[in-house]
Amino acid sequence: MKLAARIGHVTPSMTLAIDAKAKAMKRDGIDICSFSAGEPDFDTPQHIKNAAIVALNAGKTRYGPAAGEPGLREAIAHKLQHDNHLDYKPENIVVTNGGKHSLFNIFLALLDEGDEVIIPAPFWVSYPEMVKLATGTPVIVHTTPEARYKITPEQLRQAITPRTRILIMNSPSNPTGMVYSPDELRAIAAIVIEHELIVVSDEIYERLLYDGTEQMSIGAVSQEMFDRTIISNGFAKGYSMTGWRIGYVAGPLDLIKAVTTLQSQSTSNVCTFAQYGAIAALEGSQDCVQEMLTAFTARRQGIYDLINGIPGLSCLKPDGAFYMFINIAGTGLDSLTFCDKLLTDYQVAVIPGIAFGADDHIRASYATDMKTIERGMERISKFVRSI
Ligand code: PLP
Repeated sequence: MKLAARIGHVTPSMTLAIDAKAKAMKRDGIDICSFSAGEPDFDTPQHIKNAAIVALNAGKTRYGPAAGEPGLREAIAHKLQHDNHLDYKPENIVVTNGGKHSLFNIFLALLDEGDEVIIPAPFWVSYPEMVKLATGTPVIVHTTPEARYKITPEQLRQAITPRTRILIMNSPSNPTGMVYSPDELRAIAAIVIEHELIVVSDEIYERLLYDGTEQMSIGAVSQEMFDRTIISNGFAKGYSMTGWRIGYVAGPLDLIKAVTTLQSQSTSNVCTFAQYGAIAALEGSQDCVQEMLTAFTARRQGIYDLINGIPGLSCLKPDGAFYMFINIAGTGLDSLTFCDKLLTDYQVAVIPGIAFGADDHIRASYATDMKTIERGMERISKFVRSI
């Protein structure tokens, strides 16, 4: 069958593919240590599930507004005002089928052919592909471990051309876990304002922060920056709701209207009763987030110590999220060869850094139990020593 040219330019998600392969090997009875998952290994908290069940039983089973249930838009606006100091009203919010859908819709609504989008690398795998699908041009800026994998003001300035429209910020970052400090955000905001760019700020890991790290939205830097910021967020990571598929966009009214129109002609509303679970997530006790964070904190320390004890590997300690971004340059292998051999010969699944624009790295998710972390790191150690 003849497929559209646009599909030929898009690479399938490598993280989903490797995760699927590891799960299939597990099903075949192979003892796999998997660090490929991009999702918390906890069940959705019970009070969130209960709220969805109550809504389901109360008949919240019909079509709803394309922009989302009014109660959820209100709860999100309230959260953004109180937690993030961003003055959004419910009409500035559109509920989407997850953070991925939020970002896809934002790019579709904003980009014309050839518009440039600056993407700091290492980046989340889907950004360049989504930009291409929306006929934009990804402009990749490679950051360094010395700069803690964050784009510097000088790098940003150098990447800007007359076609630049958007800068993507992702803090805390997938895959590096790094968080931009308020001062770093102010320096970037000054350049964004000077060049009249827009920032798409992907804040999906904002609840997962360690050691008292402060997470600030770039939109909170100033009113001028607020006007140039679009927030993409979702419930998947912070509340362990990956399969629920609920996210949101917050931004200027004209963009929210455009995204709502797109949804009205493509996906319609997000699952109605699921949105009531999301309301409970925001309005209920946040102890569940704290409990997950306590587990992640212990694992982060454990995996960090084990990795840095393996000659040839090194990693920085992440400020947030649940990933270790491991430098494998010392092994002399490229990331695909490293990951392929590791999975085939040692039954350990990690994601090659090439998927994130960094071929001398691999990503290991520590959204798994300590026992798996210890066994997996021992296997990685054996593998690296064998090279
Ligand atoms: N943004 C980042 C940085 C992510 O890592 C992910 C998921 O892995 C998403 C967005 C999308 O999340 P979801 O569509 O599950 O809400």
